[in-house]
Amino acid sequence: MQQKRVNAVVISQAHEVSYQPHDMTWEETQALVKVERGGICGSDIHYFLHGRAGMSILKAPMVLGHELIGRVEYAPAGSGLAAGQPVAVNPSFPCRRCSLCHEGKANLCRAMRFMGSAQFFPHVNGGFAEYVAVQPEQCIPYDPQADPRAIAFAEPLAVCIHAVRQAGDLVGKKVLVTGAGPIGCLVIAAARAAGAAHITATDLSERCRSLALEMGADAAVDPRDEALTAGWASDGGVYDVSMEASGAPAAIASMVAYTRPGGTIIQLGMGVPEIAYPVGSLLVKELVLKGSFRFNGEFETAVRWLESKRIDPLPLLSAEMPMREAAPALALAADKGRAAKVQLTF
Ligand SMILES: [Zn+2]
Ligand SMILES: [Zn+2]
Repeated sequence: MQQKRVNAVVISQAHEVSYQPHDMTWEETQALVKVERGGICGSDIHYFLHGRAGMSILKAPMVLGHELIGRVEYAPAGSGLAAGQPVAVNPSFPCRRCSLCHEGKANLCRAMRFMGSAQFFPHVNGGFAEYVAVQPEQCIPYDPQADPRAIAFAEPLAVCIHAVRQAGDLVGKKVLVTGAGPIGCLVIAAARAAGAAHITATDLSERCRSLALEMGADAAVDPRDEALTAGWASDGGVYDVSMEASGAPAAIASMVAYTRPGGTIIQLGMGVPEIAYPVGSLLVKELVLKGSFRFNGEFETAVRWLESKRIDPLPLLSAEMPMREAAPALALAADKGRAAKVQLTF
């Protein structure tokens, strides 16, 4: 085990963010990646604003960031990686020994080491830093001709491809997506790529609604506009599949009304810990309610889809800012009226 001093975006327990020297530990069996770019995720924003992301609460300072691309600086012998190679960094490192890992549900591993996450304690440092040390298998090489701004969307796109898979076969289906931030918009693109026949998006923000249309939605609606949503609950609900990406209590509850009997609801938005929920309607309509958390093999799929331009995420990229300006970049990313995805660069 070695230590290497690098500059990194550290969030304190009082959720103050600063760019400061940080001692990184590194083993020679790990690949060393020089980070070039990192996307700011909703969870980074939640830690920044509230000191917690869903059930994950900051209990110690942590380096933020898990949507990373960079270049291999050091490749361990036999790893198949080469120095200088551009890679997308898969931030998840499951134990690979537990029953969940063996069942192909490594995203649910209780010993998961996920970069930039306070889910478990001690927290796992993220990669908004000059360098990160990761297992070689966390490095997914990508075509050097590909646009690095697009490849940096691999992690959130992987989340969305996983969510779409949780929903089952979407071919010919009518899909509702609530919340058109970066995740909702990438769900729209992934659902479209998976064969959805018609996709409706909802968001309170006009800006988000126009991005939803750009990313492949057929319609984008303000959920407060009752004239537009009035018909959605008719005949027991009109959507085959509803994907909840806002975390807003009103949206979460409305899915039960808008999803047709026998349909499926996928919950991706973190939301608040407790909400009032129409359980009675859920049961009489035999709705399937499924959570969706992170991803498994979908990370590499996401890299390939971005490399081949099967999905173009660039309409979602609002700004690129240097890593040392992480605090104002986080504030910008948190302002849905002004920004969708913000990327930090070195
Ligand atoms: Zn993310
Ligand atoms: Zn495991």
